[in-house]
Amino acid sequence: MKEIVCKLLVIGAGPGGYVCAIRAGQLGVDTVIVESTKAGGTCLNIGCIPSKALIHAADEFEKVRHMAGASNGIGITVEAPKLDLSQTVRWKDGIVGRLNAGVLGLLRKAKVKIVHGPARFRDGKTVEVETETGTQVIRAETVVIATGSEPVELPALPFGGAVISSTEALSLTTVPKTLVVVGGGYIGLELGTAFAKMGSEVTVVEATPQILPQYDAELVKPVARRLGELGVHVLTGARAKGLSKEALVVETASGEEKRFAADRILVTVGRKPRIQGWGLEELDLDQSGGFVRIDERCRTSMRGVYAIGDVTGEPMLAHRAMAQGEMVAEIVAGRKRVWDKRSIPAVCFTDPEIVTAGLSPDEARAHGYEVRIGQFPFSANGRAMTTEAEEGFVRVVARADTNLVLGLQAVGAGVSELSSAFSLALEMGARLEDIAGTIHAHPTRSEGLQEAALKALGHAIHI
Ligand code: FAD
Repeated sequence: MKEIVCKLLVIGAGPGGYVCAIRAGQLGVDTVIVESTKAGGTCLNIGCIPSKALIHAADEFEKVRHMAGASNGIGITVEAPKLDLSQTVRWKDGIVGRLNAGVLGLLRKAKVKIVHGPARFRDGKTVEVETETGTQVIRAETVVIATGSEPVELPALPFGGAVISSTEALSLTTVPKTLVVVGGGYIGLELGTAFAKMGSEVTVVEATPQILPQYDAELVKPVARRLGELGVHVLTGARAKGLSKEALVVETASGEEKRFAADRILVTVGRKPRIQGWGLEELDLDQSGGFVRIDERCRTSMRGVYAIGDVTGEPMLAHRAMAQGEMVAEIVAGRKRVWDKRSIPAVCFTDPEIVTAGLSPDEARAHGYEVRIGQFPFSANGRAMTTEAEEGFVRVVARADTNLVLGLQAVGAGVSELSSAFSLALEMGARLEDIAGTIHAHPTRSEGLQEAALKALGHAIHI
């Protein structure tokens, strides 16, 4: 059996693990990373990147189809477009391949040793990896667990055949005529919307009373309206009960049983930390609640063992995993860092997009703050008019006594790009006056942020 001894061992090369390994390597830490599938993890291979590629393709197709269908005011006429989904998937795979190669190159550049194969814990500081050439033992002073998450399977609807997870949905080579999405969270709605735009007849089944239940109703309204325009049938308060004679049985909010014959049933009811099947459960590590418990430095309950990313529970987001990875690398290299989760933004790439950071008005009040709120509609924004995307608004939530910004939210076309301004405001401890006094370029949608801050201060200019 071959053996490697190193200072830092990172298990999992998703956005958490590879960022941690690269930063550790840059700081001169002798680092090994183990990956059982492909560098980049869920995010790069079967998550963020491929889903956004598919969403972009669907948006382009729908835009042209819309122009070809109705007479529009802009004065552009086009022929009806055609979609070859197998070519779209090849294009998407090409992007993923380029990024895969990029991550491997960056790891090599940082002098990180890469070991391919599934790792299994022997003890908290030693793993065995089944590589193509035999078993590799790796012993490390410090271990970082970055094994991510996997889709939750519904016992009544196991994956297989017509029942698919987001992973399979991202590689379909034909557009299903009918698609039922079970779970109206962000992954289900992003993919459901993309398939509706590509021509599928889509039904969304969501157990709670509202789609995107983690967002406040005002932010969700424009998304629900657009789903209606796209012909997506949304059933809230409804539960998928299982398959009967090839049809999906759904219990509606009123207790009625409905059957949906669908070419594909996409189950997106959440993701669970990958903590089973590789020896983690045998370690004396606090995993209560189904995820690896960490403190503000990402330390687990075992000395010298850190955990980052989805394996540590919500919020399961790539940028959170990356930020934790970078921080842990610096701690291992001897720097003093702590983890502050206040400014993690969250984006929902639906149509229109939703972006949030910090506290919503209700959350701020629940924390005991008296709040000052400013909201600015895109219907009063020149750039929004010229791009035919007037739906939505920007909102700022601040403490009424000090004007310290507590949270920011927006819904509208392209608002994902406001996420960095939102996080920066929270990270820098901005007050309403800081945002209001920052000169925003004209004409841009981001002027909505400045106007929202001005509105909260009581003197918006353009409304
Ligand atoms: P992962 O990316 O899951 O990586 C873990 C890695 O560990 C994997 O490569 C796995 O193969 C490897 N591994 C596991 N066990 C072992 C083992 N025993 N030995 C060796 N290797 C192992 N997040 C966003 O922020 N924005 C988005 O737009 C977004 N869109 C998404 C869309 C979809 C469809 C999905 C499914 C997810 C999306 N996410 C998005 C979530 C995002 O992908 C995750 O939050 C992110 O990938 C978590 O990173 P991670 O490093 O913790 O884990």
